[in-house]
Amino acid sequence: MNKDNKQSNNCTVPSVHPWQIKPQPITNIEREETYDIVVVGAGFAGCVAAHSAAEAGAKVICVEKAAEVVGHGIDVGAIGTKLQKEAGIELDKDLIARLIYQWGQSQANYRLIRTFVDKSGEVFDYYYDLARAKGLKVSLNSQNTARSDWDELEDRFKQFRTAHKFTDDERHYRADGKFINTDFVEMVKEAAEAHGAVFAFQTKAEQLVREDGCGDNGRGRVTAVIVSDSKGYKRLNAKKGVILATGDIGGNREMLECWSPICLRADKSVYTRKGYNSGDGIILGMWVGAARSRCYPAPIIHAVNFLPLAAGMDTSWLTVNREGKRFCCEVAWEPLVTNARMNAPGNKAFAIFDSRYPEHAKKQEPSKFASVSESELRAKVEKAVQSGHIFKGQTLEELAEVIKVPAENLKKTVAQYNKYCDAGYDPEFGVPSRFLSSVKEGPFYASAITSVLLAVPYGLHVDENSQVCDEDDNPIPGLFAIGNVQGDFLANSYPVTVPGLNHGRCLTFGRLVGQALAHGMTINEYYKLY
Ligand SMILES: Cc1cc2nc3c(=O)[nH]c(=O)nc-3n(C[C@H](O)[C@H](O)[C@H](O)COP(=O)(O)OP(=O)(O)OC[C@H]3O[C@@H](n4cnc5c(N)ncnc54)[C@H](O)[C@@H]3O)c2cc1C
Repeated sequence: MNKDNKQSNNCTVPSVHPWQIKPQPITNIEREETYDIVVVGAGFAGCVAAHSAAEAGAKVICVEKAAEVVGHGIDVGAIGTKLQKEAGIELDKDLIARLIYQWGQSQANYRLIRTFVDKSGEVFDYYYDLARAKGLKVSLNSQNTARSDWDELEDRFKQFRTAHKFTDDERHYRADGKFINTDFVEMVKEAAEAHGAVFAFQTKAEQLVREDGCGDNGRGRVTAVIVSDSKGYKRLNAKKGVILATGDIGGNREMLECWSPICLRADKSVYTRKGYNSGDGIILGMWVGAARSRCYPAPIIHAVNFLPLAAGMDTSWLTVNREGKRFCCEVAWEPLVTNARMNAPGNKAFAIFDSRYPEHAKKQEPSKFASVSESELRAKVEKAVQSGHIFKGQTLEELAEVIKVPAENLKKTVAQYNKYCDAGYDPEFGVPSRFLSSVKEGPFYASAITSVLLAVPYGLHVDENSQVCDEDDNPIPGLFAIGNVQGDFLANSYPVTVPGLNHGRCLTFGRLVGQALAHGMTINEYYKLY
């Protein structure tokens, strides 16, 4: 990220990019091994694909340029799982598929979304059983990321209770500082190894090999991956195919400048392993004739704030820019407020609330705040005021001075917003009345809105089988893309409609593509989906 969160007008990237220059084939290769399937990347998607293919009888190698597997975050989204059924949660699959598709402004491939929606439940249940058999706890995570009744809001605000987690407590991290999901990814890797899959770490995929045919890039199959490790280059033949699972482009500044410059205005990125999410799969694919996703990148931008009450996920407050003016719809906080912040003047904005915040919080989220006492909430806020994370003023003028916004503008904005609250109707942004929290009784508070980049899903153009395609939409034989490098699934911005959606699609397509390819088939041939 830029230190000052500014997006430079001077383009610092060269006019020709690495993905546009096909390199000379690597020739000094002294070692060669043959597998049915080569998986590139041992993250969430790659480990699931390696496991599923090996379990189905294929000879599999998974190459990973880092020294170990990686697991991000907590939520894994799935629809129609045993856990949901036990909890009495019924989800409308047609509606969910429509809403994910609409969120991408019709750029995405509906069939991919539909496959996720239809198959994620059974795939999750399979891994639920495996995880429990291996001693992992599994539970629903509907308390934090999809409130119990947000599926009853109007469509654009809906969130479904799709999130599951591989723990039964509130932890986000393990004792070693790694995300909880790491437990799951490690478990899947070990299960894959038990089926004979080989994992090669500190082994980087450098080039794909595509059989010659007519045309510049050939028309033949992708038959091998050239990798590098401490001993030099090695050719890994893939008799049935190559599955790219190389993750997103969030760590590649040149790609962000070219394809998703808004991301450069985020405060920071929160990768556990910086530098690995560099869009390699896109480059590898394009060198053998693959096209990029037809969709715009879909950055996952969250508000990471130590105090959820004031900003992020749980509650919604009046937001103002540095001019003291309201500028966005405050529901849902992520990604609507976090995205809008990056287009606010000076890339700065504040959440504003008054001394009745415990009352407002309980009105907005009765179930979430039922067990939280008023004194507990007040103690949290006062602690944040002491540490300088929340600003306080006895009057609006005083608050305006502290956060350096024009007092007259702030007072005007608050007066207008209070009218909307009293009427229970927000004509500007349509925030539902339950989330309108008037700002009337001092002391008044402000909290800076953060915008933090998690990942920038963007990948290769794929068809409904997750098979990589060329510019003319022809599937490239033997080449598949899953996880964040699977294009055409998300577009423009990451939707919060289906919490855990991204891990959900990693899991679903990892399993479906892995299993089908082990049988030498596409997922539609194997599962007879369409
Ligand atoms: C902090 C954080 C929290 C998140 N939380 C959630 C959440 O709660 N729910 C959710 O649904 N999503 C979440 N996400 C988003 C997303 O689900 C994750 O990014 C997920 O890990 C994507 O999985 P993946 O397998 O596609 O890629 P990754 O997990 O990033 O794995 C890709 C792997 O490929 C390797 N690789 C790349 N290039 C090469 C190469 N040339 N050769 C060999 N190996 C290579 C990388 O080193 C990496 O290990 C989160 C993301 C982040 C960053």
